[in-house]
Amino acid sequence: MLDNCIFCKIGNGEIETEFLYKDDTVCAINDINPVAPVHILIFPLEHIDEIGDEELRGSRWMGHILYVSKKVADLTGIKDSGFRIVINQGSDSGQEVQHLHAHVIGGRPLGSLG
Ligand code: AMP
Ligand code: ZN
Repeated sequence: MLDNCIFCKIGNGEIETEFLYKDDTVCAINDINPVAPVHILIFPLEHIDEIGDEELRGSRWMGHILYVSKKVADLTGIKDSGFRIVINQGSDSGQEVQHLHAHVIGGRPLGSLG
C-alpha cells in the first residue's frame, strides 16, 4: 500500500468502486475514462510500481493478469470479437498512474497499433 496511490486505495476498498473481478491478488475495474465500449483496468492489490520491478522477476503476476484479462473479456462479451491488452510505460505512452496495471480494451475494431 502506497499512500496517495489511487489504485492501492481502490484495491483495498478505501475508495468505493465496483469490481468486475477480484481475488486475493488482483482486481479489475471499469476505466473512468473509457476509450472504447469496453475498457477495463486490471492491477495487483499490492503496490507494484511498474514493469521491471524486482517483485516481478520470475513471478506469476503477469501470467495471472493475462489469465484474468480473458476472464473479464468473457464477462463483458468481447472474448470472441477480440480485444487488446495494453501496458503504458512512461510519459510518451501517456501513463498517468504509477501502479502496475493492464488495460483491456475492446468492443469495436481497434485499428493498428500506434
Ligand atoms: P495509464 O495512463 O496507463 O496510467 O492508465 C491510467 C488509467 O486509469 C486511465 O485510463 C484513467 O482513465 C484511469 N483512471 C484513473 N482514475 C481512475 C478511477 N478512479 N477509476 C477508474 N479508472 C481510473
Ligand atoms: Zn499503488
